[in-house]
Formats: sequence, structure tokens, C-alpha cells
Amino acid sequence: MCGIVGYVGSKQAYPIVIKGLKRLEYRGYDSSGVCIGNRDGITVLKEKGKVSDLEAYAAEKDTSGSISIGHTRWATHGVPNRENAHPHFSGDRKLSLIHNGIIENYDSIKKALINKGHTFKSDTDTEVLVHLIEEIKNHEQVSLFEAVRLALNEVVGAYAIIVMEKGVNNEFIAARKGSPLVIGIGEGEYFVASDASPIVEYTRDVVYLDDGEIALINKDADLEIRTIANVSKTPFIHELELSLEAIEKGGFSSFMLKEIFEQPKSIIDTLRGRINPKTKEITLGGILDYEQKIINADRIIIVACGTSWHAGLIGEYLFEDLARISVEVEYASEFRYRNPIINKNDVVLAISQSGETADSLAALELAKEKGATLLGICNVVGSSIPRLTHAGSYTHAGPEIGVASTKAFTTQIVVLTLMAIKMAQKKGTITKSKYHEIITELELIPKKIEKILKKNDQIKKIAEKFKNATNFLYLGRGYNFPVALEGALKLKEISYIHAEGYPAAEMKHGPIALIDDDMPIVVIATKKGNYDKVVSNIQEVKARGGRLIAIVTEGDTTVKELADYCIEVPDSFDGLSPLLTNIPLQLLSYHIALMRGCDVDMPRNLAKSVTVE
Ligand code: GLU
Repeated sequence: MCGIVGYVGSKQAYPIVIKGLKRLEYRGYDSSGVCIGNRDGITVLKEKGKVSDLEAYAAEKDTSGSISIGHTRWATHGVPNRENAHPHFSGDRKLSLIHNGIIENYDSIKKALINKGHTFKSDTDTEVLVHLIEEIKNHEQVSLFEAVRLALNEVVGAYAIIVMEKGVNNEFIAARKGSPLVIGIGEGEYFVASDASPIVEYTRDVVYLDDGEIALINKDADLEIRTIANVSKTPFIHELELSLEAIEKGGFSSFMLKEIFEQPKSIIDTLRGRINPKTKEITLGGILDYEQKIINADRIIIVACGTSWHAGLIGEYLFEDLARISVEVEYASEFRYRNPIINKNDVVLAISQSGETADSLAALELAKEKGATLLGICNVVGSSIPRLTHAGSYTHAGPEIGVASTKAFTTQIVVLTLMAIKMAQKKGTITKSKYHEIITELELIPKKIEKILKKNDQIKKIAEKFKNATNFLYLGRGYNFPVALEGALKLKEISYIHAEGYPAAEMKHGPIALIDDDMPIVVIATKKGNYDKVVSNIQEVKARGGRLIAIVTEGDTTVKELADYCIEVPDSFDGLSPLLTNIPLQLLSYHIALMRGCDVDMPRNLAKSVTVE
């Protein structure tokens, strides 16, 4: 993970870099640092904690200079402290380097370098790379660009790096493999960053560096790109569509709250242009040529991690229920290492907000080797998964900055729903009237979410009652079982309260032993699906003294008599109910976390785009 930014041009570089780091802070925030090049040499500033801590530390220091690289870290090797914060330096302190990723063979390289007399100041894998570049540069007497290229040929692992040299104030070098990197092209200036958010304010012309490419970025020259195998590449300039407004908080106290409240709009954006207003025909342009392949597939294997995995589970229910296509949902991290059976007739679908999730990418690579058809559902346009897959659909949710996923989750479900109904219609596994009923219901979802969001104050009051709990159990069945898992994950992620999600009926096979007077239990008990069965599960909880919060359909009376607190959601088609029931659970976690003094946008130990294993 981690965010990296670089600027070279004629403006003051530090303010651009620090602002960029703040935009990338969702990627890592345990320490940060910058290196600034100026007439006197270089200025290096590093601090433990968030970018604001670095800013405070740098407030009284000289930060002048028109070239700078900066890093906000999510530690993989070495504890978060000032020594381990990036940039890291070569032994002679002439080269400085920032890195996102992991150098897997750092240990053997480090030992070899120690034998050659190198000494190291940090515990990071990154410092080894900059020493290796120094060693090659000095030993082979080559340019920095060539030294970087040769060093990267020796490296195993994932990286996005920027390297700058003391005294060279017009250029730096960037390279990537496995971690994202975008280069912004301005007038006599260049920007480099882990995603486009630090760049959009200055230029819309960007080049997405591909895996295994190195760029020589000189403010007075055209961009020069080569592969690490030394093949010259012509940069392809894309035009950014991202708006600045979309990456700012817009009056909300946190990105998470903003993103929760944005869901009606983001779902409208996901649906935009995909349902013909007259015929109600669905068109998913990105998978058009692959529809027949999906219908004829032996099975769809969904690979994902975290919240996207929960969306995948809902996708499984939708595809099997509506389109009668067999689906398996896999944790990408397990799938990639367990020698799975994948056939040419399988469709492997990766779901990832960032499109950069390392485990999901590796799972796709494996599926590619076996000849499967690869699909993606991602939010970030131009990211690695959409580039690797044969086809796919974007969620178009807009940038999701809060580390805990909210609007990405709901829009992933919307895309999965569109795919499943489309396939069902093409296969003839649902009737025309059912098709139209689901589409009508789907188009009503944004309005229904707006209605639920109006219950924010009620949910806040409930949060107040439970903020001191140490454990939570979330229960749901059918389509709402994955919602229970997601509700529990959200609470864990941002409030650090231990929470488990379970299929309601499984409770009696174990977790029921946990229930006592102190245990809060959140039950999703909407009218459709297995309502009566869930009511029986609620009775079982009640009989053991658990404190119940129930998510119920408007007008419910049965559960209301049993539960301590009820939050109503509008009625809908069962398969769409996760889009509604999930909203109160997001708000409940949000308020509890806030009341416990947690940073909801940047929960401890987490980072958003998990580009490491
Ligand atoms: N592996 C490097 C470190 O632990 C980089 C981690 C990151 O991507 O932030 O410092």
C-alpha cells in the first residue's frame, strides 16, 4: 500500500507534494516523509504519524525547491517510526527513493550488500533497493536510469518507486511493477502519484505506467519510457475524467459519512445509461461481447477480498437465483495459492474497488494461465484489473476515500444485479414480468436509500446505547447473510469492537453460547426471504437475554414486539434488499466509532487499496 507523490517543474514542489500525500492518505498513514531538491542540495523531512504531523514538523523548516518526492507509509517491513519512514537513502546519501510495495528478496540482497560494506539505517526492504541502485551505479559506472533498470532486474516483488539524485534538480525516475503509478504531464512540469487524485488539480493529461516500465521524467524534455528489459515504449496519454469536487469532503465531517450519504447518487451513476428508459433493456457495454461466454460458462468463480468478497457472495445468490449459473466465491488470497481447478469454460470475475488489489490480481493471473475468461468489476477507471481482464463493468461510484468501503460495496451489488438479470433474461430463466418487476424495483433503490438516510438521528441514538459494547453478533439469512458479514466487518474496521457475522440459523451450532445479557445482536429480518425462520432465530436470542437491534421492513409488527430497537427499511425485491439493509448498518458502525473517538476515515492498521499480499 502507501501513497507516493513526486513533482518536478518550476513551482514550489513541497506544497504540491504535501497536498497530494493528504489525498493519498487513505492508502497508508503510519508515517510520512519528503525529500526536496534545491540549490543547496536536499532537504529531508520525515515524521511518524499522519501527513498533518509531518506538516507540523516541517512548519518552521525550509521547504523551498522545485523538485520533491513524498511518501505516506503503510508499514510492511519495520515498525512505523521516523527511521523507517520514506524516503530512504543510498550510503552516500546522494540518492533518495520512495517505494510502495514489497521487495520480497530484500534479505538476500541486503546480505550481499553488507558483504560489500553497505550499512543500513532502517529495517525496511526499501532501503535495500536504493543501496542496490547505488552499488550498481558506482560499480558499473552507468547513468541513474540504467542503474535503476538493472537493479529492478534483480528484484522480486512489487513496487512503485520514484528515485531522485542530489544536485539533479530537473529530473527523477519512476518505475512500477504490481503497484500503481500515474504520471501527469503539465507545461514544463510533471507530477507522479499512486493515483490521479494529487494530479487532477494541475493537469488532465496523464500516462498510466504499465507493469515493468521505467520512466525518465525530466521537466525540460518529453517523457521517456522503457521496460526493465530495455525496450523503448511510446507513452499513451489519457485524459482524466476525475473531478476535484469528487475527492473533497463537500461539507461532511468525514469522507465515510459523505460516501454513505452519496449512495443514492452513486447508484444513479452506476445505472446511468445502462437501462433503456423505454424498453428497460439492460446494456452493459463492457461485457457485451462476452455475454454468450458468461451464459455458457460452466461456472463463474468470483475472486475478491474484504467487503468486495461480501458483494461477491450477494452476486452468487443473484446469479444462481435469477440466471441459474453456478457460482463459487473465493477469497482471492486463498484461491491463488491452493492449486484450484480452473477450466477454459470458467469465467473468473474479480471484484475490487481500487482495481489494484494484489491478491485479486494474482488470482486473475492464475486464471489467465489456465485459459479462463476474465471479468472485472472495479471502481477506479484504468486501474490494473480492468487492464488485465477481457471485459468488465465499472461501478462509477466516484472516488471512495474513506478506508471502510460503503458506496463501492452498494454499487458493486448494483452491477452484479444488472449482470445477473441481463444473463437471466438472455437465458430465459426469468419471466418477462419478473424482469420488469426487478428493474422497476432497482430504479427505486436510490429514493428508498434516501428515506433510510433520514433515519440517521434514530440510528445515532441506538449507537449511543451500544457504544461501550465489546462484542457484537450480526445475523442474517439468504441475501442478507452477506449483509450480516459486512455489518460485522464495518464495525470491526472502524470501531475496533469485536464482531461476528453469521447465517442466523447457524447460531445454534456455536455462537449461541456467546449470548448473555450484555451481547448486542443485530438481526436483519426483512419480510421477504426466510422471514418466519429469522423470527424463530430472534426468539432463540430473546430467550437467552441478548439485546436485539433489528432491521425490519416498514410496517413490521412481529419483530417489533421482540426486538429492543427496530430500524425500518422500505420493502423491495428480496435480491435487492441488501442495498437497503446495509445502509443502517453502515451508519450504526459510523456513529459507534465516532462516539468511541476513532478516526473513521483512517482506521488503525488499515489502508484502502491493498496492493501488497
Ligand atoms: N515495504 C515498504 C515499507 O515497509 C513500503 C510499504 C508501503 O508500501 O508503504 O516501508
